[in-house]
Amino acid sequence: MPFVPYGRQSIDDADIAAVLDVLRSDHLTQGPVVDAFERALGETVGAPHCVAVNSATAALHIACLALGVGPGDLVWTSPISFVASANCALYCGAEVDFVDIDPVTLNMSVDVLEEKLRKAEAAGRLPKVVIPVHLCGLPCDMSAIGALALRYGFKVIEDASHAIGARDGGDLVGACTHSDIAVFSFHPVKIITTGEGGCCVTQDPDLGKALLRLRSHGITRDENDMSGPSEGPWYYEQIDLGFNYRMTEMQAALGLSQLARLNDFVSHRHRLADRYDAELAALPIDLPQRSADSLSSLHLYIIQLRLDEIALSHRQVFESLRQRDIGVNLHYIPIYRQPYYRTLGFKPGHCPNAEAYYARAVSIPIFHGMTESQQEQVVVALKDVLQ
Ligand SMILES: *Cc1c(COP(=O)(O)O)cnc(C)c1O
Repeated sequence: MPFVPYGRQSIDDADIAAVLDVLRSDHLTQGPVVDAFERALGETVGAPHCVAVNSATAALHIACLALGVGPGDLVWTSPISFVASANCALYCGAEVDFVDIDPVTLNMSVDVLEEKLRKAEAAGRLPKVVIPVHLCGLPCDMSAIGALALRYGFKVIEDASHAIGARDGGDLVGACTHSDIAVFSFHPVKIITTGEGGCCVTQDPDLGKALLRLRSHGITRDENDMSGPSEGPWYYEQIDLGFNYRMTEMQAALGLSQLARLNDFVSHRHRLADRYDAELAALPIDLPQRSADSLSSLHLYIIQLRLDEIALSHRQVFESLRQRDIGVNLHYIPIYRQPYYRTLGFKPGHCPNAEAYYARAVSIPIFHGMTESQQEQVVVALKDVLQ
């Protein structure tokens, strides 16, 4: 049987033509296509300020810096995420801690967050920034998190790497209705791709300006932001310590072309998920949560094994599926269990719900170009292995 990956990009002729046009144009970087991509992204997600960068990792880094995260500060995120959600705080010299997940939604638990905030307030050690992650594209309860942010005085960065095209109630993810900044990823396994790439979106014009500067060396050409009058048409000032996190024109052209297919991408994922929901309902597994009042972008389809009803171990199920050429994966190892985080003092068991999830989770393939026969191969393999 041919191998079925867990995720894969979908590139069509229009995407290829858009990239070729840029290659024949005057600008390969810092040209008009990045601006056009930013405008289109901002309009799509309902945010007036959008700053495209070369990865979501870079976006998370400058989002933390724009919110003033530095040495002595504390940043909290979810343990069930990619390591970048936590590393961004460490890049800024801050400390990081993890808020355990809700076992049903798999997102940061609002109850655990509230309890942890109460204790942190008593101890005089509140976080400066909290980074909820919309795992699989299922939006976190942002109105509850936003209310806690007001009550306890922290800022919120949504790690929406999985969630472009998702909705939280009536709010588009990225409109930042209850957050300061949201971050998207355009890595090839995500909903839309630019090869490598990401962006920050915000409602706040000052944050938008800060993010723009941090993307490009901390340099401004806006006289209003300079320390004194311009010295001439060549003049610019470096007023922050920024980076070269710029996106190329080729990447932006691909992104702009992909963005035109966002609704197709999300609705196809829903069709695939509906079919899985129906075909897998009788197996000894828990299917992913969907919610009546939000729209997941369904970046991932994660099943959880009911190990007491299955003769095989988690690892055996995983290996048996891989042997049948099913590209199962595991999103994610609790971040604090990584050796690097253990050297920072984190102990196994720090977040019990995250560990219980990790012991039985399997991501099964879901991607735009997935054919019916590929999905059938996955369903047959699962029935074979689990029954
Ligand atoms: C993919 C991902 C990132 C990092 O994205 P890059 O664009 O590869 O840097 C960060 N957070 C989450 C939740 C992700 O899935």
